[in-house]
Amino acid sequence: MFIDPHVHMYSRTTDDYEKMILSGIKTVIEPSFWLGQARTSSKTLIDYWEYLINFERARAREFGINHYCAISVNPKEANNSQLANESLDVMANYLSKEGVVAVGEIGFDMITKEEEKVFARQLVMAEELKMPVIIHTPHINKVEGIKKTFDIIKNCNATKSRIIIDHNTEETIELSLSYDVIAGITVYPYTKVSSIRAVNMLKKYGTDRILINSSADWGVSDPLSVPKTAIQMEKDGFSKNEIEQLLFHNPNNFFKQSKNYVPL
Ligand SMILES: [Zn+2]
Repeated sequence: MFIDPHVHMYSRTTDDYEKMILSGIKTVIEPSFWLGQARTSSKTLIDYWEYLINFERARAREFGINHYCAISVNPKEANNSQLANESLDVMANYLSKEGVVAVGEIGFDMITKEEEKVFARQLVMAEELKMPVIIHTPHINKVEGIKKTFDIIKNCNATKSRIIIDHNTEETIELSLSYDVIAGITVYPYTKVSSIRAVNMLKKYGTDRILINSSADWGVSDPLSVPKTAIQMEKDGFSKNEIEQLLFHNPNNFFKQSKNYVPL
């Protein structure tokens, strides 16, 4: 049994849900993301949260998959201050709803002042509610982005054991782990990290504070990245227990920190 702790089912078809359950994925966590097109109003972001909490959760359930989501104003949209502020003003109402287990994804995209403000405000909100947080790391200037991210975490006094720093590569994994947070690795078919590269990182850094996800979305991505990583781990000599620990127990234990998560 597997958990995919970061996947955007909003952009996937029912065929994907079917393949996922057949491959053993029992639970998915869906963070709020940028839909690829600038919004004209905060109301469409609020409708998107409603969609994740209600329709997507019910759609997953029809396939036997538990769906949880993370709510946020994402880093790209943080740069539209009016939209960001209007959304943040009502966001707290959404964080307590059934199925909402984290704040995310938040963090930096282009590392701007606006992004920093919106990031910090959401981190404080999560800390007050003792909620887990999913932090996105930028695709460019990743190392700088992670260092700045940790300045913000420190300034906000956020609890590190409730934080995932996501989308790590060979370049950043050691740095992320050195900050005592949970490090996410996104396994993508062509770009980002392949399952072979992910498993090589596991051999070097162990499996204790690492989560593997697909981050599958509209682009070239693979909702079966988690079970495919299990196959690669088995090929490379990891035991059944180690595979289960990493791909099921680690995310299950992490999200247990949310009172809205029902552990398996
Ligand atoms: Zn994402």
